[in-house]
Amino acid sequence: MKIDRRQFMHGALAASCAPAVGAQAAGTSPVYIGDMHSHLFFFGMGVSPEKRPLGATMAAGNATLVAWSLVGDVPWLRITGQGIKQKGQPQRGEAIAWFENDLTRIKAHLDSQGLKLALNPDDIDAALRGEPRVVLTVEGATFVEDDPAPLAHAYELGVRSVQLVHYIENPLADFQTERPQYGGMTDLGRTVIEECNRLGMLVDLAHCTDIVVRAALEVSTQPVMWSHSSVTRTRQPNWKMPVWQARQLPLDTAKLIASKGGVVGLWPMRSDVGPSPEAYGERAWELGEWLGVDHVGFGTDMNAISRPAISSYADLQKVVRLWQAAGFPDESIRKIALGNFARILKQAMSARAA
Ligand SMILES: [Zn+2]
Repeated sequence: MKIDRRQFMHGALAASCAPAVGAQAAGTSPVYIGDMHSHLFFFGMGVSPEKRPLGATMAAGNATLVAWSLVGDVPWLRITGQGIKQKGQPQRGEAIAWFENDLTRIKAHLDSQGLKLALNPDDIDAALRGEPRVVLTVEGATFVEDDPAPLAHAYELGVRSVQLVHYIENPLADFQTERPQYGGMTDLGRTVIEECNRLGMLVDLAHCTDIVVRAALEVSTQPVMWSHSSVTRTRQPNWKMPVWQARQLPLDTAKLIASKGGVVGLWPMRSDVGPSPEAYGERAWELGEWLGVDHVGFGTDMNAISRPAISSYADLQKVVRLWQAAGFPDESIRKIALGNFARILKQAMSARAA
């Protein structure tokens, strides 16, 4: 369905008067929300989880499948005027130690909230039925040093998705915001993707350069996700651009991800998508038109973006109401809101080798 801008803005007005979160027409189930990328502990940005616990945050917007991303390279990063930069290199063993510490902290918070992890396809079905599940993900596979063995360890600890790169150099692949050092992906990077496929973990290509994405799509036997950023049809992003432009995906690459069954998550970066849930909703629907409605999801990057267009799951319910008021098909709304993320996660989990 094409976006008609006037109809959409009319819908925006109607939606602003519509019933609050969780309300729905008689006989229909609520639209549940999936989030392909969020943080609760990251540089102390956003609201601390003690003040805004994840359980309540999810419940306030009917979010039932949230990826909580452990940032694998935090100790070696600093925030600068030009965005996040590398400030050092982990010594052997330091990255896995950081990973284990932070995972313990994350799990303690989930336990305190009575939140369950999404560990297998049944958990994804539970989330689709409205029972909250949290997917543990790692942003930046820094803990993989020169051998993919720690991936199996991460799986045992509950991690179900791995993003290859973030903001520091690692031996797997180039990333978008620094000058490429390999010109693509290394053999170890390829091995890591094969190992993720084998273990049943969803590969996340966010932050990878265009060349790496294309190489990864050749290797992965399962659909992949691009958990957070956006798609550009006019630029060829490169590392010299401002971060929000450097982080975009060119449209033809995004289409390639979609052609292999994958999903692209839209972030709520104000400089990119605009200032409001309305602007975000319009952009997300448009992305569905570009890539197909089966290939778009939400990637809030919660607590890692300052002044985002979407700052809560209640904001994403606003987006849903906006789409409903604009008369968009219910099935498509549910796919973008949760179904697409659930589908690829379940597919990756189901592919786990016996
Ligand atoms: Zn990120």
